[in-house]
Amino acid sequence: MTGSDADPDAFTYNGGIVEPGETQNIRYGISETYLGDPVRIPVTIVNGAEPGPTVFLSAAAHGDELNGIEVVREVAHEWNHDDLRGTLVCLPVLNVPGFLAQERYLPIYDRDLNRSFPGREGSTSAKRMAYQIFRNFLAPCDVGLDFHTSTRGRTNMLHVRGDMNNSEVARLAKAFGSNVIISSEGPTGALRREATDYGIPTITIEMGEAHRFQREFIDRGLEGVESVLSEYGVHRTKSVKWPGWRTVIDDAKEKTWIRADAGGLVDMHHDRGSLVYEGDTICTITNPFKTDSEPVVAPFTGLLVGVLENPVVYPGNPLCHMVELSAKTRKALKRDRARNSPKSNDETAPPPESR
Ligand SMILES: [Zn+2]
Repeated sequence: MTGSDADPDAFTYNGGIVEPGETQNIRYGISETYLGDPVRIPVTIVNGAEPGPTVFLSAAAHGDELNGIEVVREVAHEWNHDDLRGTLVCLPVLNVPGFLAQERYLPIYDRDLNRSFPGREGSTSAKRMAYQIFRNFLAPCDVGLDFHTSTRGRTNMLHVRGDMNNSEVARLAKAFGSNVIISSEGPTGALRREATDYGIPTITIEMGEAHRFQREFIDRGLEGVESVLSEYGVHRTKSVKWPGWRTVIDDAKEKTWIRADAGGLVDMHHDRGSLVYEGDTICTITNPFKTDSEPVVAPFTGLLVGVLENPVVYPGNPLCHMVELSAKTRKALKRDRARNSPKSNDETAPPPESR
Protein backbone atom coordinates (compact mmCIF):
# COMPACT_ATOMS: atom_id res chain seq x y z
CA MET A 1 0.00 0.00 0.00
CA THR A 2 1.18 3.43 -0.73
CA GLY A 3 0.50 6.58 1.12
CA SER A 4 0.05 10.21 0.34
CA ASP A 5 -0.42 13.26 2.53
CA ALA A 6 -4.08 13.35 1.66
CA ASP A 7 -5.23 9.76 2.07
CA PRO A 8 -3.08 6.83 3.15
CA ASP A 9 -5.13 4.53 0.95
CA ALA A 10 -4.62 6.51 -2.26
CA PHE A 11 -2.34 4.97 -4.89
CA THR A 12 0.37 7.36 -5.99
CA TYR A 13 2.81 7.16 -8.87
CA ASN A 14 5.10 9.76 -10.39
CA GLY A 15 2.73 12.44 -11.61
CA GLY A 16 -0.53 10.98 -10.41
CA ILE A 17 -2.78 9.85 -7.61
CA VAL A 18 -5.70 7.41 -7.60
CA GLU A 19 -8.02 7.95 -4.66
CA PRO A 20 -9.95 5.18 -2.88
CA GLY A 21 -13.05 4.25 -4.85
CA GLU A 22 -11.51 5.58 -8.07
CA THR A 23 -10.42 3.81 -11.27
CA GLN A 24 -7.97 5.41 -13.70
CA ASN A 25 -6.80 4.36 -17.15
CA ILE A 26 -3.35 5.78 -17.68
CA ARG A 27 -0.91 5.80 -20.56
CA TYR A 28 2.41 6.16 -18.80
CA GLY A 29 5.55 7.18 -20.70
CA ILE A 30 8.52 4.89 -20.02
CA SER A 31 10.76 5.77 -22.98
CA GLU A 32 10.86 7.52 -26.37
CA THR A 33 10.90 6.27 -29.96
CA TYR A 34 13.46 7.18 -32.65
CA LEU A 35 11.08 9.98 -33.58
CA GLY A 36 11.06 11.32 -30.07
CA ASP A 37 7.49 10.25 -29.43
CA PRO A 38 6.63 8.76 -26.07
CA VAL A 39 6.60 4.99 -25.56
CA ARG A 40 3.68 4.63 -23.21
CA ILE A 41 2.42 1.56 -21.37
CA PRO A 42 -1.29 1.15 -20.63
CA VAL A 43 -2.03 0.97 -16.90
CA THR A 44 -5.34 0.65 -15.12
CA ILE A 45 -5.43 1.33 -11.40
CA VAL A 46 -8.56 0.15 -9.63
CA ASN A 47 -8.51 1.51 -6.09
CA GLY A 48 -11.22 -0.07 -3.96
CA ALA A 49 -13.43 1.98 -1.68
CA GLU A 50 -12.15 -0.04 1.26
CA PRO A 51 -8.50 -0.53 2.18
CA GLY A 52 -6.63 -3.78 1.59
CA PRO A 53 -3.61 -5.23 -0.21
CA THR A 54 -2.29 -3.80 -3.46
CA VAL A 55 -1.96 -6.47 -6.15
CA PHE A 56 -0.31 -6.08 -9.54
CA LEU A 57 -1.22 -8.13 -12.60
CA SER A 58 1.22 -7.82 -15.48
CA ALA A 59 1.54 -9.38 -18.93
CA ALA A 60 3.54 -9.24 -22.14
CA ALA A 61 6.95 -8.58 -20.59
CA HIS A 62 7.69 -10.72 -23.62
CA GLY A 63 5.95 -8.82 -26.38
CA ASP A 64 4.45 -11.77 -28.27
CA GLU A 65 2.99 -13.58 -25.23
CA LEU A 66 -0.62 -12.53 -25.44
CA ASN A 67 -2.91 -14.76 -23.32
CA GLY A 68 -2.17 -12.83 -20.13
CA ILE A 69 -3.05 -9.52 -21.76
CA GLU A 70 -6.68 -10.59 -22.00
CA VAL A 71 -6.68 -11.90 -18.42
CA VAL A 72 -5.47 -8.54 -17.14
CA ARG A 73 -7.90 -6.58 -19.33
CA GLU A 74 -10.90 -8.61 -18.27
CA VAL A 75 -10.03 -8.27 -14.59
CA ALA A 76 -9.57 -4.52 -15.01
CA HIS A 77 -12.55 -3.73 -17.22
CA GLU A 78 -15.13 -6.53 -17.03
CA TRP A 79 -15.14 -7.50 -13.37
CA ASN A 80 -17.35 -5.83 -10.83
CA HIS A 81 -15.09 -4.20 -8.26
CA ASP A 82 -17.79 -2.82 -5.96
CA ASP A 83 -16.59 -5.01 -3.09
CA LEU A 84 -12.88 -4.48 -3.74
CA ARG A 85 -10.77 -4.19 -0.59
CA GLY A 86 -7.44 -2.88 -1.73
CA THR A 87 -6.03 -1.89 -5.08
CA LEU A 88 -5.42 -3.64 -8.41
CA VAL A 89 -2.57 -2.39 -10.58
CA CYS A 90 -3.27 -3.77 -14.04
CA LEU A 91 -0.41 -3.72 -16.56
CA PRO A 92 -1.59 -5.63 -19.65
CA VAL A 93 1.36 -4.78 -21.92
CA LEU A 94 4.75 -4.15 -20.28
CA ASN A 95 6.97 -4.54 -23.34
CA VAL A 96 5.30 -2.07 -25.71
CA PRO A 97 8.07 -2.02 -28.37
CA GLY A 98 8.13 -5.85 -28.45
CA PHE A 99 4.33 -5.96 -28.54
CA LEU A 100 4.18 -3.56 -31.50
CA ALA A 101 6.70 -5.70 -33.37
CA GLN A 102 5.05 -8.93 -32.10
CA GLU A 103 8.42 -10.06 -30.84
CA ARG A 104 9.56 -11.54 -27.56
CA TYR A 105 12.38 -9.08 -26.97
CA LEU A 106 12.68 -5.34 -27.06
CA PRO A 107 13.64 -4.69 -30.70
CA ILE A 108 16.35 -2.31 -29.47
CA TYR A 109 19.45 -4.55 -29.41
CA ASP A 110 17.17 -7.55 -28.82
CA ARG A 111 17.16 -6.99 -25.12
CA ASP A 112 15.04 -9.07 -22.76
CA LEU A 113 12.89 -6.72 -20.67
CA ASN A 114 12.32 -9.67 -18.35
CA ARG A 115 16.02 -9.78 -17.48
CA SER A 116 16.25 -6.03 -16.90
CA PHE A 117 14.33 -5.57 -13.64
CA PRO A 118 14.36 -3.76 -11.29
CA GLY A 119 16.00 -1.48 -13.83
CA ARG A 120 18.25 1.48 -13.33
CA GLU A 121 18.18 5.18 -14.12
CA GLY A 122 20.85 6.34 -16.54
CA SER A 123 21.47 2.78 -17.79
CA THR A 124 20.50 0.93 -21.00
CA SER A 125 17.17 1.58 -22.68
CA ALA A 126 15.78 -1.73 -21.34
CA LYS A 127 16.85 -0.95 -17.78
CA ARG A 128 15.44 2.57 -17.95
CA MET A 129 12.07 1.20 -19.07
CA ALA A 130 12.18 -1.50 -16.39
CA TYR A 131 13.01 1.15 -13.80
CA GLN A 132 10.01 3.31 -14.71
CA ILE A 133 7.70 0.31 -14.51
CA PHE A 134 9.19 -1.04 -11.31
CA ARG A 135 9.43 2.20 -9.38
CA ASN A 136 5.98 3.52 -10.27
CA PHE A 137 3.75 0.48 -10.51
CA LEU A 138 5.40 -2.60 -8.95
CA ALA A 139 7.23 -1.25 -5.91
CA PRO A 140 4.01 0.05 -4.23
CA CYS A 141 2.40 -3.43 -4.39
CA ASP A 142 2.07 -6.20 -1.82
CA VAL A 143 1.87 -9.21 -4.17
CA GLY A 144 2.13 -9.74 -7.92
CA LEU A 145 1.10 -12.02 -10.78
CA ASP A 146 3.13 -11.92 -14.00
CA PHE A 147 1.58 -13.71 -16.99
CA HIS A 148 3.61 -15.42 -19.69
CA THR A 149 3.17 -18.06 -22.38
CA SER A 150 5.58 -20.53 -23.86
CA THR A 151 8.22 -19.18 -26.23
CA ARG A 152 7.13 -18.95 -29.88
CA GLY A 153 6.92 -22.37 -31.54
CA ARG A 154 6.15 -24.24 -28.32
CA THR A 155 3.17 -24.55 -25.99
CA ASN A 156 2.75 -24.98 -22.22
CA MET A 157 0.07 -26.43 -20.00
CA LEU A 158 -0.90 -23.86 -17.40
CA HIS A 159 1.59 -23.86 -14.55
CA VAL A 160 2.96 -21.52 -11.93
CA ARG A 161 6.58 -20.68 -11.29
CA GLY A 162 7.78 -19.25 -8.01
CA ASP A 163 10.23 -19.75 -5.19
CA MET A 164 8.46 -22.25 -2.93
CA ASN A 165 11.21 -21.88 -0.31
CA ASN A 166 9.78 -18.41 0.33
CA SER A 167 6.65 -18.96 2.44
CA GLU A 168 4.89 -15.85 1.12
CA VAL A 169 5.52 -16.87 -2.49
CA ALA A 170 4.33 -20.38 -1.63
CA ARG A 171 1.09 -18.97 -0.22
CA LEU A 172 0.52 -17.01 -3.43
CA ALA A 173 1.50 -19.89 -5.73
CA LYS A 174 -0.86 -22.31 -3.99
CA ALA A 175 -3.66 -19.73 -4.01
CA PHE A 176 -3.53 -19.53 -7.80
CA GLY A 177 -4.78 -23.11 -7.90
CA SER A 178 -2.67 -24.63 -10.68
CA ASN A 179 -1.96 -28.36 -10.90
CA VAL A 180 1.76 -27.82 -11.39
CA ILE A 181 4.05 -25.45 -9.52
CA ILE A 182 7.70 -25.34 -10.56
CA SER A 183 9.82 -23.99 -7.74
CA SER A 184 12.77 -21.76 -8.51
CA GLU A 185 13.99 -18.28 -7.67
CA GLY A 186 14.05 -17.40 -11.35
CA PRO A 187 16.88 -15.74 -13.23
CA THR A 188 18.47 -12.46 -12.19
CA GLY A 189 16.60 -9.53 -13.72
CA ALA A 190 13.33 -11.45 -14.13
CA LEU A 191 10.36 -9.47 -12.89
CA ARG A 192 9.15 -12.16 -10.48
CA ARG A 193 12.55 -12.70 -8.91
CA GLU A 194 13.39 -9.03 -8.52
CA ALA A 195 9.93 -8.13 -7.21
CA THR A 196 10.13 -11.01 -4.72
CA ASP A 197 13.62 -9.95 -3.62
CA TYR A 198 12.25 -6.43 -3.13
CA GLY A 199 9.65 -7.83 -0.74
CA ILE A 200 6.70 -8.28 -3.10
CA PRO A 201 5.92 -12.00 -3.34
CA THR A 202 5.41 -12.61 -7.07
CA ILE A 203 4.73 -15.62 -9.27
CA THR A 204 4.86 -16.22 -12.99
CA ILE A 205 1.95 -17.95 -14.67
CA GLU A 206 2.86 -19.77 -17.86
CA MET A 207 0.00 -20.73 -20.14
CA GLY A 208 -0.37 -21.73 -23.76
CA GLU A 209 1.46 -20.42 -26.77
CA ALA A 210 2.64 -17.06 -28.10
CA HIS A 211 0.67 -14.98 -30.67
CA ARG A 212 -2.73 -16.32 -29.57
CA PHE A 213 -5.72 -15.60 -27.42
CA GLN A 214 -6.60 -19.09 -26.16
CA ARG A 215 -9.93 -18.92 -24.40
CA GLU A 216 -9.47 -22.02 -22.22
CA PHE A 217 -6.26 -20.60 -20.79
CA ILE A 218 -7.66 -17.12 -20.34
CA ASP A 219 -10.60 -18.58 -18.38
CA ARG A 220 -8.27 -20.66 -16.21
CA GLY A 221 -6.11 -17.59 -15.65
CA LEU A 222 -9.15 -15.62 -14.55
CA GLU A 223 -10.11 -18.39 -12.11
CA GLY A 224 -6.59 -18.22 -10.70
CA VAL A 225 -6.81 -14.45 -10.22
CA GLU A 226 -10.19 -14.85 -8.46
CA SER A 227 -8.69 -17.45 -6.18
CA VAL A 228 -5.68 -15.26 -5.33
CA LEU A 229 -7.85 -12.21 -4.63
CA SER A 230 -9.96 -14.37 -2.35
CA GLU A 231 -6.89 -15.69 -0.48
CA TYR A 232 -5.80 -12.12 0.28
CA GLY A 233 -9.30 -10.86 1.09
CA VAL A 234 -9.35 -8.45 -1.85
CA HIS A 235 -12.60 -9.85 -3.21
CA ARG A 236 -14.76 -11.25 -0.45
CA THR A 237 -17.26 -13.32 -2.38
CA LYS A 238 -14.88 -15.67 -4.15
CA SER A 239 -13.37 -18.87 -2.78
CA VAL A 240 -9.85 -20.24 -2.98
CA LYS A 241 -9.56 -22.85 -5.70
CA TRP A 242 -8.31 -26.40 -5.11
CA PRO A 243 -7.19 -27.75 -8.48
CA GLY A 244 -8.02 -31.42 -7.76
CA TRP A 245 -4.40 -32.50 -7.67
CA ARG A 246 -1.15 -30.66 -7.32
CA THR A 247 2.54 -31.29 -7.66
CA VAL A 248 5.34 -28.97 -6.59
CA ILE A 249 8.45 -29.56 -8.66
CA ASP A 250 11.37 -28.70 -6.40
CA ASP A 251 15.00 -29.79 -6.41
CA ALA A 252 14.06 -33.21 -5.07
CA LYS A 253 12.06 -33.98 -8.23
CA GLU A 254 13.32 -34.53 -11.73
CA LYS A 255 12.60 -31.96 -14.38
CA THR A 256 14.25 -31.65 -17.74
CA TRP A 257 14.15 -30.11 -21.16
CA ILE A 258 14.44 -32.99 -23.61
CA ARG A 259 16.45 -31.80 -26.59
CA ALA A 260 16.79 -33.11 -30.13
CA ASP A 261 19.97 -35.06 -30.87
CA ALA A 262 19.23 -35.02 -34.60
CA GLY A 263 18.05 -32.32 -36.95
CA GLY A 264 14.80 -33.06 -38.76
CA LEU A 265 11.02 -33.01 -38.67
CA VAL A 266 9.27 -33.89 -35.46
CA ASP A 267 6.21 -36.10 -35.11
CA MET A 268 4.96 -35.40 -31.58
CA HIS A 269 2.95 -38.29 -30.13
CA HIS A 270 1.63 -36.49 -27.04
CA ASP A 271 -0.01 -33.20 -26.17
CA ARG A 272 0.96 -30.75 -23.46
CA GLY A 273 -0.34 -32.03 -20.16
CA SER A 274 0.04 -35.70 -21.11
CA LEU A 275 1.27 -38.29 -18.63
CA VAL A 276 4.07 -40.40 -20.13
CA TYR A 277 5.89 -43.37 -18.66
CA GLU A 278 9.60 -44.05 -18.57
CA GLY A 279 10.64 -45.54 -21.91
CA ASP A 280 7.59 -44.32 -23.83
CA THR A 281 8.26 -42.70 -27.17
CA ILE A 282 7.36 -39.02 -26.82
CA CYS A 283 8.10 -38.11 -30.42
CA THR A 284 10.13 -39.20 -33.42
CA ILE A 285 12.51 -37.11 -35.51
CA THR A 286 12.63 -38.06 -39.18
CA ASN A 287 14.73 -37.04 -42.15
CA PRO A 288 13.09 -35.59 -45.30
CA PHE A 289 12.90 -39.02 -46.98
CA LYS A 290 11.36 -40.72 -43.93
CA THR A 291 14.13 -43.30 -44.27
CA ASP A 292 15.64 -42.48 -40.94
CA SER A 293 13.66 -41.95 -37.79
CA GLU A 294 14.94 -41.38 -34.30
CA PRO A 295 12.59 -42.10 -31.40
CA VAL A 296 12.84 -39.81 -28.38
CA VAL A 297 11.91 -41.67 -25.21
CA ALA A 298 10.84 -40.46 -21.78
CA PRO A 299 13.75 -40.68 -19.33
CA PHE A 300 11.38 -40.99 -16.35
CA THR A 301 7.65 -41.11 -15.66
CA GLY A 302 6.03 -37.72 -15.59
CA LEU A 303 4.09 -34.94 -17.18
CA LEU A 304 4.76 -33.07 -20.42
CA VAL A 305 4.43 -29.49 -19.18
CA GLY A 306 5.52 -28.02 -22.50
CA VAL A 307 5.89 -29.40 -26.02
CA LEU A 308 7.08 -28.29 -29.44
CA GLU A 309 4.46 -26.82 -31.79
CA ASN A 310 6.64 -25.91 -34.75
CA PRO A 311 7.89 -29.34 -35.90
CA VAL A 312 11.36 -28.46 -37.14
CA VAL A 313 14.53 -28.89 -35.09
CA TYR A 314 18.26 -28.56 -35.16
CA PRO A 315 20.26 -30.75 -32.81
CA GLY A 316 19.99 -29.14 -29.39
CA ASN A 317 16.57 -27.59 -29.89
CA PRO A 318 14.11 -28.29 -27.07
CA LEU A 319 11.42 -30.88 -27.84
CA CYS A 320 9.53 -30.91 -24.57
CA HIS A 321 9.67 -29.89 -20.94
CA MET A 322 9.01 -32.79 -18.64
CA VAL A 323 8.54 -33.01 -14.87
CA GLU A 324 8.47 -36.06 -12.62
CA LEU A 325 5.17 -37.20 -11.09
CA SER A 326 5.04 -39.49 -8.08
CA ALA A 327 2.81 -42.58 -8.16
CA LYS A 328 0.51 -40.90 -5.65
CA THR A 329 0.16 -37.74 -7.77
CA ARG A 330 -0.42 -39.83 -10.90
CA LYS A 331 -3.28 -41.56 -9.16
CA ALA A 332 -4.79 -38.23 -8.10
CA LEU A 333 -4.37 -36.83 -11.63
CA LYS A 334 -6.10 -39.83 -13.21
CA ARG A 335 -8.96 -39.69 -10.71
CA ASP A 336 -9.38 -35.97 -11.30
CA ARG A 337 -9.26 -36.25 -15.09
CA ALA A 338 -11.73 -39.14 -15.07
CA ARG A 339 -14.09 -37.12 -12.87
CA ASN A 340 -13.90 -34.10 -15.12
CA SER A 341 -14.20 -35.87 -18.46
CA PRO A 342 -15.53 -35.20 -21.01
CA LYS A 343 -15.01 -31.50 -20.22
CA SER A 344 -12.50 -30.31 -22.79
CA ASN A 345 -10.42 -28.19 -20.45
CA ASP A 346 -6.73 -28.50 -21.18
CA GLU A 347 -5.85 -29.67 -17.72
CA THR A 348 -8.90 -31.76 -17.02
CA ALA A 349 -9.59 -33.60 -20.25
CA PRO A 350 -8.32 -37.16 -20.45
CA PRO A 351 -5.15 -36.78 -22.47
CA PRO A 352 -3.91 -39.30 -25.01
CA GLU A 353 -2.20 -41.55 -22.49
CA SER A 354 0.22 -44.24 -23.35
CA ARG A 355 -1.22 -46.88 -21.07
ZN1 LIG B 1 7.67 -14.97 -21.26
